[in-house]
Amino acid sequence: MISICQKCLTLNETEQHSSFTCTICSEKNYIYISNNIYEIGNKAARYGYDYRIAYDNQIKEAGVIGVDYCLEATSEILKWLGGIIFSGVIGNAAYDLIKNKVQKFMAANREHIDNNALKISATNESIDEFISNIAEWANDLKNLNPEVKKHILEEQIVEKLTAKSEKKLSQGEIIDESDIDFRGAAREVEKERETNKKNARLIARKIYK
Ligand SMILES: [Zn+2]
Repeated sequence: MISICQKCLTLNETEQHSSFTCTICSEKNYIYISNNIYEIGNKAARYGYDYRIAYDNQIKEAGVIGVDYCLEATSEILKWLGGIIFSGVIGNAAYDLIKNKVQKFMAANREHIDNNALKISATNESIDEFISNIAEWANDLKNLNPEVKKHILEEQIVEKLTAKSEKKLSQGEIIDESDIDFRGAAREVEKERETNKKNARLIARKIYK
């Protein structure tokens, strides 16, 4: 499994968490909820950044959203980064401190940086855009174009339903109308969001102390 060092933010491959020693700084404290950072960041980078940029661009170019996207999975490294930023925002860390952690994380994990992450870390503006989009996601997309917000929410619901159906199919079960429960999926998305915020508060105490 992969753990993240509490001190230098380097991603370490470890057999088990109990024997963690950072390969870079020898720190013994890992972030024991590192799975949560990854999960929180996955959602934040996918919906708060990837989909948001795609739909924002569509509005800019066409004035309306006429095409629904189905985007590829987000880069691994951006999931971790998204989780670090989301936690900082939820933990009320100052912007400069969050940005400092972003730069620290990118520098510490240079070998994992792919083209998507490279594009984001290329300029001061692109880093700021990534941070502010994740921050807006953490703040429930309050300032977003309502059309874009609606589409992002729909993507989440559809992906939740798809994942459920795929799981059932893989277990040899049959899918029927009762599986297409949009309201139920919307409630789950909402619940997940609250859980992510709760976990982010705990993570923030470790990273942003
Ligand atoms: Zn370390």
